Amino acid sequence: PFRLGPRIKNWDEQREAWLKKYPYKRLTPQNRPRMILVTGSPPTPCGYPTGDQFLTRSFKNKLDYGRLHVVDVYYNMAVMEMGDFWVKLPIVRKLMVRHPEAEWIWWMDSDAIFTDMNFEIPLERYEGKNMVIHGWKNMVYRDRDWTGLNAGIFLLRNCQWSLDLLDMWAPMGEDYGNHKNEVGYFLSQQLKGRPDFESDDQAGLIWLLLSKPELRSKVFLEDSYKLHGWWMELTEHFEEMAGKSNFSDGSWPFITHFVGCKFCSGRYNSTSLELCTREAEKAFNFADNQVLRSYGYRHESLSQLGVEQFSEESTHPLEQLYGISLNFTV
Ligand code: UDP
Ligand code: MN
Repeated sequence: PFRLGPRIKNWDEQREAWLKKYPYKRLTPQNRPRMILVTGSPPTPCGYPTGDQFLTRSFKNKLDYGRLHVVDVYYNMAVMEMGDFWVKLPIVRKLMVRHPEAEWIWWMDSDAIFTDMNFEIPLERYEGKNMVIHGWKNMVYRDRDWTGLNAGIFLLRNCQWSLDLLDMWAPMGEDYGNHKNEVGYFLSQQLKGRPDFESDDQAGLIWLLLSKPELRSKVFLEDSYKLHGWWMELTEHFEEMAGKSNFSDGSWPFITHFVGCKFCSGRYNSTSLELCTREAEKAFNFADNQVLRSYGYRHESLSQLGVEQFSEESTHPLEQLYGISLNFTV
């Protein structure tokens, strides 16, 4: 059957041996485990006129988050062994085996946007777990619901278990792009609410968890914060949130995911692209305001590209920014 690469059997030992040799690579200067955030888009220009502008902004948003939290960002435009929604599997695997310093590989779709720039993933909570993904136990394990988890954003620990998972997961996408494929038909029969179309990575993952219960103990289905938040429920609140405060009180959605919007291809997908575009604009500017704040600017409104200065430049910028007084001699 289809393989992502040669089967590796002792990855944990190999990685540990490497880390012994380069111990200083294990943690970031902030003493956090290293993470690589990976996202990407097709190598070709977008078919929809504003698609590439969307992708640039979505990438800027991730770059900002990565810079603020010392998370490395990798942008993939190569279609490797698998395309479409399966593209994430081969690149995640490559990053894992070529970056032993990274404890976590973090996939995030291009149509997902950070909307709380301050939030940090509570990694301590995931000790002993190897996959973190937004979802609900009952919806996945009891209802076998196709939307019980969302595969647009997930964290995989760099370890043998994850390589094994990818080896089991990838063959389910062997016939990707083929609308008549048998795997797709099978998954629609097995899972609640799944329309009949070619096999997708989300259904494949749910099916693995259903058919191999021994995997479940290593998978953390997170629902205590929005590792994936459905945009339809969130964007209408951004204006109010922004009006109340400059900082999140912990209630702002961490990630807003524009599921179904197809910004790049423009391919019709049940939701109107016009609505998606308008709401995404709000999400971007809501996030961008959290970044621009340090420089004294903000968007004129969440629906506007233009910015305005809200505080004058000072001759003591550090005191102004950090609200402290610094003693120094000229
Ligand atoms: N993707 C990619 N290259 C491609 C196609 C997709 O990098 O050629 C990525 C992109 O980040 C996208 C994700 O794979 O968000 C999931 O693909 P899908 O077709 O499901 O797009 P979405 O539903 O997120 O719009
Ligand atoms: Mn998506």
